[in-house]
Amino acid sequence: MKILVINAGSSSLKYQLIDMENEAVIARGNCDRIGIDGVLSYKAVGKGEIKREYPFPDHTVATRTVLESLTTGDLAVIQDISEIGAVGHRIVHGGNYFMESVRVDKQGDVISKIEACKTLAPLHALPNAAGIRACMDAMPNVPHVAVFDTAFHSTIPDYAKTYALPTDLCEKYSIKKYGAHGTSHKFVSRKAAEFLNRPVNELKMVTLHLGNGSSISAIDRGICVDTSMGLTPLAGPLMGTRCGSIDPAIVTVLMDNERHADGTPLTGMEINNIMNKKSGVYAVSGGYSDFRDLEAHAAGGDKRCALAWNMFAYQCKQIMAGYIAILGGVDTIVFTAGVGENGPNTRAKICDNLYDCFGIEIDPEKNDVYGKLAEIGSSRSKVHVLVVPTNEELMIARETMEVADRA
Ligand code: ADP
Repeated sequence: MKILVINAGSSSLKYQLIDMENEAVIARGNCDRIGIDGVLSYKAVGKGEIKREYPFPDHTVATRTVLESLTTGDLAVIQDISEIGAVGHRIVHGGNYFMESVRVDKQGDVISKIEACKTLAPLHALPNAAGIRACMDAMPNVPHVAVFDTAFHSTIPDYAKTYALPTDLCEKYSIKKYGAHGTSHKFVSRKAAEFLNRPVNELKMVTLHLGNGSSISAIDRGICVDTSMGLTPLAGPLMGTRCGSIDPAIVTVLMDNERHADGTPLTGMEINNIMNKKSGVYAVSGGYSDFRDLEAHAAGGDKRCALAWNMFAYQCKQIMAGYIAILGGVDTIVFTAGVGENGPNTRAKICDNLYDCFGIEIDPEKNDVYGKLAEIGSSRSKVHVLVVPTNEELMIARETMEVADRA
């Protein structure tokens, strides 16, 4: 079966066509600048690629272009859209509605619940729903499956996901820990077990998805029992431009005291913007959000970059160690995403000095690995330390096939 995976954002729609016979990507692309002007980047694996301007007034037109790119011209990879067996949609937030992937019904129940999550995922819920609608219009006879970033975390126990705020407020605003990056944590935990040739339900793991956004999960025999992102993807270690978990009173100090030039106070949205886009290692380092820049400047003696990098490693270590305690030990540490896969020095800093207490040790030579599945633990390490490239699209395709087959 060939599965089309769609990731619809507010102004972009990324897609991959995957052949599930061998789990190989046949083609991938991105419709960018939707609602502004429009650029299509498209690559047919083994055939070639194009980048072309297109008018993308909305997601419906972008979806039509996706299907055209796959079926017409020199770079066509299928003759007809009927060759697509199912469509998997990446959905950022499932709220309290979805604990697992579901088939999208034609009556619109699933779509309206995704839209109802807009207070929890203001930037993503409506574009995600628009993407599904547009694809269902273009491919009405194919199963469409919604795969949620939050679903893998729905197994987190109440004592780990409840916030200690008045219950009526938590209920009114659906406030609890939902986490994010669930599809990635699930994928790498399964891949790590496969690599170790052990059933996932025998392993205690801590998975570190470290990219521009970073989250860490505790996975007890395949089941997620805690994760560092919270109600939103702002919690956890500091990130590229996000502040991570901070004393919540800082928010009220800013609201009560910080003023615009005209004396008006900052709105909640403005403070949210500061915490999401102007904070993190970017703020501490004085303008670097990319970990490659951070590392290079820290190595060159820049103290602010060194501080930001040290803070990141410190906070990741702290969260990882807490998760090892709640798991009652650990068999496997997994590093994934941009920094996790390509940042040996960051991996080394996070795992530094953990042999005597946790039996975790990285081998410096094995750690010299970039974007490849590999064991980097030393020969005496009692814990496997792995680099596992993530593949969220493939995980979405696998879930889509499973749900489509079930239906
Ligand atoms: P996103 O959260 O946007 O998906 P990614 O997972 O792509 O982010 O990660 C992006 C981060 O990975 C950037 O900070 C980038 O600097 C970092 N990265 C990529 N290659 C390297 C490298 N060789 N060394 C250190 N960091 C790297």
